[in-house]
Amino acid sequence: MVDNAYSMLRELKEYAKENDVPIMQDEGIDFLTTFVIKHQITNVLEIGTAIGFSAISMALANPKLKVTSIERDEARYLEAVKNIKKFDLEDRITLLFNDALEVKLEDEYDLIFIDAAKGQNKNFFEKFEKRLSEDGFIITDNMKFHGYVDKDESEIKNRNLRGLVRKIKDYKVFLEENETYKTKFYDLGDGVAVTSKR
Ligand code: SAH
Ligand code: MG
Repeated sequence: MVDNAYSMLRELKEYAKENDVPIMQDEGIDFLTTFVIKHQITNVLEIGTAIGFSAISMALANPKLKVTSIERDEARYLEAVKNIKKFDLEDRITLLFNDALEVKLEDEYDLIFIDAAKGQNKNFFEKFEKRLSEDGFIITDNMKFHGYVDKDESEIKNRNLRGLVRKIKDYKVFLEENETYKTKFYDLGDGVAVTSKR
């Protein structure tokens, strides 16, 4: 990667920090970029673009890789459009401004990266698994959700947060007990799950 791209990525990270945009943590992004290289991933579907940081990182890691990424928040979508132009990646990153649960896709993907509303993980999974190639992977971020998933429920005072954490736990069980897919859980970043067909 050229030096300039590194400093531009650093700027994206700073922007995210200043504006409370929950982009993937360093450890997670390192894992993801290594993963797409190792498995020669070429067609990614990303649920949750935010400002384009993870999509850009994957595209920079592998020059053959294309990303279709969905974002429902207009301000973030527009910021992502701007960033993808800055990196000159318009030909490899396609952004869709919509709720992922409303989007219709026909293509097949060898990686589906789920990183949007955490309470919807199972809905995203069930909607988009049909678009996964036979030997493809589904990666889900934030399986630990800032450590709350491993905490005792009684320690979580906020009711909404407790509901969300419960949903992530349910999703984890759904993955663990799935008869079609197997999942490996990685204790890095905010917790990353890698799912593939059995
Ligand atoms: N993948 C990004 C971070 C995504 S943050 C990165 O690591 O760089 C999660 C994003 O998902 C937020 O911007 C939020 O607006 C978006 N999101 C949440 N639910 C969504 C949905 N149902 N459809 C589309 N986008 C959604
Ligand atoms: Mg995330």
